[in-house]
Amino acid sequence: MKTQSITIAGAGLVGCLLAVMLRKRGYAVTLVERRADIRTTTAYAGRSINLALSDRGLKALDVAGIKDAILQVAIPMRGRMMHGVDGNTTYQPYGVGNQAINSVSRGELNRVLLDQAAAHGVECLFEHRCVDIDPATGAATFEPANGGPQRVIEADVTFGADGAFSAVRDAVMKRTDRFDYSQTYLEHGYKELHIPAGPNGEFLLDKHSLHIWPRHSYMMIALPNLDGSFTCTLFFAHEGNPSFRTLDSRSAVEAFFNEHFADAVPLMPTLLDDFDHNPESSLVTVRCNPWVSASRRVALIGDAAHAICPFYGQGMNAGFEDCRVLIECLDEFNDDWPRALERYQELRKPAGDAIAQLALDNFIEMRDKVADERFLLRKRIESFIHANYPDRFTPLYTLVTFSPNVPYNAAYSMGKAQDVLMEHLMQRLPNDGHGWDTAEGHAIINNVMESWCAA
Ligand code: FAD
Repeated sequence: MKTQSITIAGAGLVGCLLAVMLRKRGYAVTLVERRADIRTTTAYAGRSINLALSDRGLKALDVAGIKDAILQVAIPMRGRMMHGVDGNTTYQPYGVGNQAINSVSRGELNRVLLDQAAAHGVECLFEHRCVDIDPATGAATFEPANGGPQRVIEADVTFGADGAFSAVRDAVMKRTDRFDYSQTYLEHGYKELHIPAGPNGEFLLDKHSLHIWPRHSYMMIALPNLDGSFTCTLFFAHEGNPSFRTLDSRSAVEAFFNEHFADAVPLMPTLLDDFDHNPESSLVTVRCNPWVSASRRVALIGDAAHAICPFYGQGMNAGFEDCRVLIECLDEFNDDWPRALERYQELRKPAGDAIAQLALDNFIEMRDKVADERFLLRKRIESFIHANYPDRFTPLYTLVTFSPNVPYNAAYSMGKAQDVLMEHLMQRLPNDGHGWDTAEGHAIINNVMESWCAA
């Protein structure tokens, strides 16, 4: 049977992009979303307000032909600006030349993607919540928000793009023997706060940086918005001291921020109200297997397959990459869906596991190590080595963020091997590593790199 109809549960970022790509390939696509159409509602009830979009996501958007439209509403961030407790700032570029990650509004991105889906002839059905799916046939049951009768949609293939708490995944899991599933909550959660634009709409911090206030066991970050404001996210422990629990009054919040984020406080006139009103949200990592049902009629994609913590800014990028790789699998197998879905799972499951681990590791780097002198020294040496041995050594951040042709799992393994190399090198460099930028230091680096390249 030739596959012709596709149902996608979830019109979030990944579901919409998948719908555009499959529709452009000629399939009849139905996109079903439990919420109202965000293009006709003013508020976006999503999680974070803005997201970092990087090369993996851009590559996928390019395949769908909408990269340029998205970049027009994005703000490039070329490096991290670290804010010390004393108010001093340190800048660390993310890459070389024009390499940047892009701050984009989740709502705007979702709206553009939905517009594209509708323009390409995707049938969109809103306010219908998926409540069940038959993994053998892919027949999905949706419940309308208005209390009307349930609707069963049959398709050749049904995708669960319904996010971290996927109903599609739950339904498949219940009816699949040996379905592996784990969800792990971080002891840290997050709360969104706000830095408004200045009196003339100007940015009050450098708009081309991702700002970080690293404080060892917690941190705050800020990403720019097009209107001159910044969305701040405080990543903080749910329990313990300090934690959301100990900041239990306006005076406690005020005192804490004055002590630990003194340079940010004057920029946050609504801090106390924001802290009161904005929810304390949790961070979950979801791993599951398989992503594709035995019948090859149901598949998971995006957060439904691999919800990860946001510390590498890769959750959406990974979901977009899932879509791109799926299309490449369809190319490879000439739209033979069972074989294409098998290959999709084979390629993406290890990638999903790797980025989940990288994201967890990067939390420690962002909140703790970026403030550490030795870590910054090592970053400078890594950049030097990359410039001199571009084919043999690429810093892990560059591999993950700016190297869309390197799968996450390959980036993870390369990062581990490079860690061993750097440990060894740092021990051999004169003056505890600080002498790296001398004739002697360069000779040692070259020597170590030559052995590494020969190995
Ligand atoms: P979602 O965005 O969750 O969309 C799922 C959709 O399915 C929603 O529209 C939902 O309403 C709908 N739905 C749910 N259940 C049903 C149902 N039963 N029936 C029908 N519809 C349903 N990623 C990045 O790449 N860069 C970042 O900088 C970044 N920052 C982040 C910061 C924070 C604080 C958080 C929490 C996440 C961040 N992420 C980031 C991750 C990113 O938000 C997710 O990876 C991305 O939203 C996943 O898209 P998705 O479409 O798979 O899922």
